[in-house]
Amino acid sequence: MAAATAPTSFHIRRSFNYNANLQNSFPKVRSVKAPSIITANSLRAPRPQNVSGEFFVDHTCIDCDTCRWMAPENFTRAGDMSAVFKQPSCEEERLRALQALLSCPTRSIHTEKPPHDILEVQKTFPIPIDEHTLPGVYHCGYHSDKSFGAASYLIVRAEGNILVDSPRYTTKLENNLKMLGGARYMFLTHSDDVADHEKWSNHLGCERILHSLEVDHSTAAVEIKLEGSGPWSLSDDVTLVHTPGHTEGSVCLLYKPRNVLFTGDHFAMGERGWTIFERYNKLSVPKQLNSVKLMLDLDFEWILPGHGRRAKFRDVEEKNSSLRAFLETKMQLL
Ligand SMILES: [Zn+2]
Repeated sequence: MAAATAPTSFHIRRSFNYNANLQNSFPKVRSVKAPSIITANSLRAPRPQNVSGEFFVDHTCIDCDTCRWMAPENFTRAGDMSAVFKQPSCEEERLRALQALLSCPTRSIHTEKPPHDILEVQKTFPIPIDEHTLPGVYHCGYHSDKSFGAASYLIVRAEGNILVDSPRYTTKLENNLKMLGGARYMFLTHSDDVADHEKWSNHLGCERILHSLEVDHSTAAVEIKLEGSGPWSLSDDVTLVHTPGHTEGSVCLLYKPRNVLFTGDHFAMGERGWTIFERYNKLSVPKQLNSVKLMLDLDFEWILPGHGRRAKFRDVEEKNSSLRAFLETKMQLL
């Protein structure tokens, strides 16, 4: 990128804001006062909020929260972007920091020198989420800025693997996914998180699934378009549940053998509690809350979202009491 003379106000990109108010935690447009000259070097320089050392975050961070939940021992929010508050101090922390570096959708995390072990770290994707309670379920990493940094997942199952939403396309990840059996389906929760769906479909030969209400010119070739309000069964172990609200055709995937609900941008844990990303609602907040109510009738103990953070309940009762408390609070505010 060449040096450019900037206007007085400079539109960088859509961004996330996992700030104190969780309702405000979703893509936003950030306008910043720009210096008179903006260069690629100045945007890629370390933010002053980083502690000194090997890892640092630059000024292109979109505040998507990915590094903060992937490597919470090292990354935090400072100002309206991420920063390194402590350098990794053991191999485990260093591994997580490098996984966060590879997953950053804007490649805003750097090391002072090229990491000698980056090829080894690339082999760790997709990352098992919990080998004890969620065997066969992985976080793909490699978040895409086309999906505003949303997480994507792989479910490994005898009936054919399922990619849930789209990671950024890389050949390294493709090879790793193929070693786990590739993917038969790519389930897309909604139109925001489709990223490199076409490349994945071409390279893995998977059939894409998306609600017809979410289809636009970029997804017109999706192989399976859901119609109506469901629920739909992919097979005995997978139910697709229509959860309109964030968008009209938002759909969650319930993977019954592992009691996990993939929620896309419908519902997630934010940095300080449950969130429906109200500020970024594209259809109707009351409809979205009605769709949260639907989750009371579903048996699951894990929530794996697109944006926001994953959550694990002790059991279905704890899930339901937690959701009811959230709904009560929200209804009072409406
Ligand atoms: Zn969305």
